[in-house]
Amino acid sequence: MSESVKAFFSEEQQHVIVEAIRRAELMTSGEIRVHLDGSCQGDPVRKAIAVFRWLKMHKTAQRNGVLIYLAVKDSKFAVIGDKGINTHVRNDFWDTVRDSMHGHFVQGTFVEGLVSGIDTLATELSVNFPYQEDDVDELPNEISFGDGK
Ligand code: CA
Ligand code: CA
Repeated sequence: MSESVKAFFSEEQQHVIVEAIRRAELMTSGEIRVHLDGSCQGDPVRKAIAVFRWLKMHKTAQRNGVLIYLAVKDSKFAVIGDKGINTHVRNDFWDTVRDSMHGHFVQGTFVEGLVSGIDTLATELSVNFPYQEDDVDELPNEISFGDGK
């Protein structure tokens, strides 16, 4: 299953997504990851929380990791962040990020949707988590795949 998810985006498309993450992390100390799943039974937020743990995304100094989870076969997605973020951001923070992706996903333009979400995250996170001169890439700028088991 995870092989077919890997093939969902071409290498070039994956490169575009990873570049967006790299760019974003030059604006903010927040650490962004993208995880692609096949289909998602049930609530994508719950699944995203499980994947967040699986990827050990809590291992950031400021607890400011963000995971974009997307199940490509049924267009279900979730964006979740670590507790460092939720103590700082406005109430509509997550809505703003989700809205920036939703329209694209509905139309099946997944790469554009992910890039839009990543760009929005960068802008929003840079307010409370600006880029630091001594920045460390705490979580790899890679797309991960599969059902997280
Ligand atoms: Ca960083
Ligand atoms: Ca990173």
